Amino acid sequence: MIERPRGTNDFIPFESILREKIIYTISEYLKVFGYNLIETPIFEKIELFKRSVGESSDIVLKEMYEFKDKKGRDLVLRPELTASVVRAVIQNKLYNNNYLKFYYIGPIFRYERPQLGRYRQATQFGIEYLGNLSFLADFEIIFLTQNLYNYIFNKFNIKNIEFKIHINSIGCNLCRPTYKKKLYEYFINYKNDLCQDCQKRLDINVLRILDCKNLTCKNISINAPKSIDYLCLECKNHFDNLLNLLTMNNIDFILDNYLVRGLDYYNRTVFEVKAILDNNIIDLAGGGRYDYLANFIDSSYNIAGCGFAGGLERLTIFINNYNSNITKLLSPVKILFTIIHNNQNINIFKYLLNIFQNVNNYINNLKERYSFYFSIESSLKSALKKANAMDINYIIFIGDYEIEKNVFQVKDLKNGKQKEFSLDQINLIIKNIEELLNF
Ligand SMILES: [Zn+2]
Ligand SMILES: [Zn+2]
Repeated sequence: MIERPRGTNDFIPFESILREKIIYTISEYLKVFGYNLIETPIFEKIELFKRSVGESSDIVLKEMYEFKDKKGRDLVLRPELTASVVRAVIQNKLYNNNYLKFYYIGPIFRYERPQLGRYRQATQFGIEYLGNLSFLADFEIIFLTQNLYNYIFNKFNIKNIEFKIHINSIGCNLCRPTYKKKLYEYFINYKNDLCQDCQKRLDINVLRILDCKNLTCKNISINAPKSIDYLCLECKNHFDNLLNLLTMNNIDFILDNYLVRGLDYYNRTVFEVKAILDNNIIDLAGGGRYDYLANFIDSSYNIAGCGFAGGLERLTIFINNYNSNITKLLSPVKILFTIIHNNQNINIFKYLLNIFQNVNNYINNLKERYSFYFSIESSLKSALKKANAMDINYIIFIGDYEIEKNVFQVKDLKNGKQKEFSLDQINLIIKNIEELLNF
């Protein structure tokens, strides 16, 4: 048996159906706000992520799927999409001092320890809003993150979700160096207590110590200096204005002084969105502003940007856990059309072909609500056995008896009721499927 690689998934029905529906819901919502789909390659040059996400980030240091192609080029399976989107905007010369809005959905790859909701190949979706330096863009991104999730949960009948936005500002190139210096001066006192990773971070990127999951590091961080106390006037105004808009819009946020997010390209606003349901807290998405990212990729460009990214697998698990009727909500009515044939009358097949043709003709009335299956069986008994195994709702069948009496039968397999219809009407059954099944 050749099994799939560790940390990967096969998405089979029903899960694949749910995923498809979520993806459709995401794009439906985002298009209304002017975001259009962008697709970038699954592999990119390694430099892209080293320069943008940062050489000292966990993603670049530990988690990238790197490989050389046959010409010896250093490539990587993309670990995230923001850098790729900005690379695509520069390369395709899309930027012209205008606002650009994109959404993406696709696989990302990270070599990390697989756990529930976290895989080595995962599906990420998100939006990027480029070209707007104003706090209004940050507001739009945070507003859309929360409300997109709200829209999705409503679509899948999950009610009473409480959202929590964790938010912080990590400043800009003017004010961040002072803050980093203060952080360094604070953490150097605890150097020997910090985990090994953080001891390295002290010199490479001290901000990341605030991100560490290690309990000792977390405890040391509790009294660390806060970035908002060191913001320059412009960063402070930007952040204050954003928080005012959020408050005016009744978006519930928590000022999280030690939220930094582990990527080099963020500046000013960083945020994370969590959902609370039945006392469980679930991380949904994270994002922020990245005004220097374009410049990291190509020094002749300066393009403001902000965005968010969230995981599809985590969302799917969440919806599956909290909507027990989800299968029913997404399941079409299954209809099995059966010809019971024992080599007596070859003419009987014309009814089968007739139904095939009519399903095709009325596809617009049927789509997403009905699924048709076709079979040729030697007896009604074997047809029913098959229908049972396939969880069929209705079986429509024609056999020798029916031909003789010029009828066809419709049987509701959920309640056992059966009704006879004139075979002359066979051409109309798909067109009037709703009436036909209503007996
Ligand atoms: Zn600043
Ligand atoms: Zn640590």
